[in-house]
Amino acid sequence: MSRKGKSKLFQVPRGMRDILPAEQKYWERCVKIAKELALYYGFELIETPILENAELFAKGVGAGTDIVEKEMYTLRTKGGDLLALRPEGTPPIIRSYLENGMVSQPHPVKLFYIGPMFRHDAPQAGRYREHHQIGFETIGDPDPVIDAQIIQLIYAILTELGLKGLTIQINSIGDKQCRPKFRDELKNFYRNRVNRLCKNCKRKFKENPLRLFDCKEADCVALRSLAPHLIDHLDENCHNHFKSVLEFLDELGLPYSLNPYLVRGQDYYTRTVFEVVPEEVVGAQSALGGGGRFDGLIELLGGKPTPAVGGALGLERVIAEIQRRELKIAATKPRVRIFLAQLGDLAKRKSLKLFEDFRKAGVQVAESFGRDSIKAQLRVADRLGADISLIMGQKEALDNTVILREMQSGTQETIPLAKIIDEVKKRLKKIGPARRSISNLTDEEIDDKK
Ligand code: AMP
Repeated sequence: MSRKGKSKLFQVPRGMRDILPAEQKYWERCVKIAKELALYYGFELIETPILENAELFAKGVGAGTDIVEKEMYTLRTKGGDLLALRPEGTPPIIRSYLENGMVSQPHPVKLFYIGPMFRHDAPQAGRYREHHQIGFETIGDPDPVIDAQIIQLIYAILTELGLKGLTIQINSIGDKQCRPKFRDELKNFYRNRVNRLCKNCKRKFKENPLRLFDCKEADCVALRSLAPHLIDHLDENCHNHFKSVLEFLDELGLPYSLNPYLVRGQDYYTRTVFEVVPEEVVGAQSALGGGGRFDGLIELLGGKPTPAVGGALGLERVIAEIQRRELKIAATKPRVRIFLAQLGDLAKRKSLKLFEDFRKAGVQVAESFGRDSIKAQLRVADRLGADISLIMGQKEALDNTVILREMQSGTQETIPLAKIIDEVKKRLKKIGPARRSISNLTDEEIDDKK
């Protein structure tokens, strides 16, 4: 049908999505479980602005990374500052840690965050231009047990959400002592084979050969299988650190597999890097979460050399996986047990006030004030599965009373307005826990009430 003459219908920006009411229960559940576990593990919630100075990411994530070079949304403010919609949670947390004097708090400082991230990447299933992460950072401890604990926390959240059959892919990418040597080694390996690489990898070869491991092109993957592994070139400290992380994971009984090609997309990582993936789908966008150690980032952002490790879950992917597996997530909204119906102007006004009185008394009541017919209102009550309907018609409004109807039995009684809240509380106790059956009214009964 032509929409000629009508206003344009707007659409959500490409690669972004609405989170509709029907999906909210998944989000609430994920956030609730993640918060509960984060607090149990001693993390404190921190919120930073969605906009930051673009330079924070250029420096923090790396100017040559895809995230910064290709995917960052930037804007110039009227004052001339270059800001960016955050593509990442970690650099803002470290900025805040340094800016707010958390350096002088007892360490480790353990922080967690929840919020949207923005990356202007080619949208596809599991990859959005706005996505949400719950992330955790432990600042100030080099011990490999902390790496294991971050992995344990992320894994535990997923397990609590009912996601079984997950694997932790793990690798160590060394540190500033041993990685440069390996980088040279890798360059030597690729030097005579550059013409077999895809266009993108040719560029990566010059700028950051470790990123060659990220490529999904068949020829590059085939070549990669012959390339040396970083894990065989770690110096003794990095080797021992990694060995300990794996021993802790063994101790915790967490399923992991070594992935020598896991390098992740941020420059700040040192030593441990990991991703959590469902066992049976190994696709490009399958990681539900990931993270690693970043012992150099705090110094890079102007602080004292401070070890740190962190990780984050991608909420869209976690929820998609819950839905794919058809796991049951109960709605968190309590079912409404009382419905307030009204007829006539005076009753409408008094009901409006009564509705507020119930709220203050801590009793949840539903209404449909926009509807004038009692029949239509009682249908709503019936659909909601209310245990009790309160009906105020013109007579009741004048008499300062309300009709209390128990929906299941159909019995009803007129109660003085001043006593109605107490009476409802009493009846709810008598009726017992919220009943399940929804429809209890016959059409005749509804017609009676017209
Ligand atoms: P990263 O910040 O790249 O380490 O990503 C952490 C987690 O966020 C990943 O494991 C994904 O689950 C999720 N994630 C990252 N990028 C996206 C994206 N573009 N769309 C949806 N989820 C994403």
